[in-house]
Amino acid sequence: MIIAIDGPAGSGKSTVAKMLAKHLGIRYLDTGAMYRALTWKAMQHKVNLDDERALCRLMDQTKIHFHYKEKGLLVFVDDKNVTHEIRSPSVTNNTHYISSKPGVRAVMVNLQREFALEGDTVAEGRDMGTVVFPDAEKKFFLDARIEERAKRRFYESESSNNENSFDGVLQEIELRDQRDTTRKESPLKISADSIYIDTTDLTINEVLHRIIKEVEPLMKNK
Ligand code: C5P
Repeated sequence: MIIAIDGPAGSGKSTVAKMLAKHLGIRYLDTGAMYRALTWKAMQHKVNLDDERALCRLMDQTKIHFHYKEKGLLVFVDDKNVTHEIRSPSVTNNTHYISSKPGVRAVMVNLQREFALEGDTVAEGRDMGTVVFPDAEKKFFLDARIEERAKRRFYESESSNNENSFDGVLQEIELRDQRDTTRKESPLKISADSIYIDTTDLTINEVLHRIIKEVEPLMKNK
C-alpha cells in the first residue's frame, strides 16, 4: 500500500507524513531529502549544477540511504551522515537545479519505486501522486496560505539559529513555489484523485486525524 502526500514547502507534509507512517507502523519516504542529498554532494564536488550529464554521472556514483531513529530520520550520502547539511539555506536554494533535470529525476523515481516495493509506504514530495505512484491507494495534497507557510518556516529557522528575516523566508518560499510549479519536468500540481487539505488553520494533529480517518479503512481491509 502506498499513501502519497504532496504539497509545497511549509504545508506540513513532512511532519504529518512522518507521524502517519509511525502511527500505521509502515515505512516513510522523504523524496525531498533525496534531491537535497544529491544537491549537497554536487556542491561538495563542485559539479556544475547546470550540467545534466555530469549530475547524472554523479547520481550513478552516489548511494543515498536513510536510517530511522526514534528521534527522526537520518540521511546518508554514501557513508556520510548529511541530515543537517541538506537543510542548509545554500542546499535549499540550489536544489531546483537538480530537481529540474529529467535525467536525474528518472533515476530518483526508480529508486523511490524500489523503496516502496519493500513494504507499505507513506511517500512525501512534489510528484508522488502525479508521477511516481499514480496508482497509490490514497493521495493527499496539503496546502496552506503562503504567509502561514512562511511563518512556520521562519519559526523553524529561528529555533535552528538561522539569521533569516520573515520577509527573506517569505521570498524564498515564493521563489521555490514558482520554480516547483512551473518547471517542465514533474511540476508540483494537484492530481484529480487527491484529497486536498488546507492546513492554514489546522493543527498538525487535526491534519493527521483527517488523514487517518481516510486511511484507516484501507488498513482494516488488508
Ligand atoms: O520537500 P523539500 O522541501 O525537502 O524538497 C526540496 C526540493 O526538492 C523541492 O523544492 C523540489 O524542488 C524538490 N523535490 C522535487 N520532487 C520531489 C520532492 C522534492 O522536485 N518529489
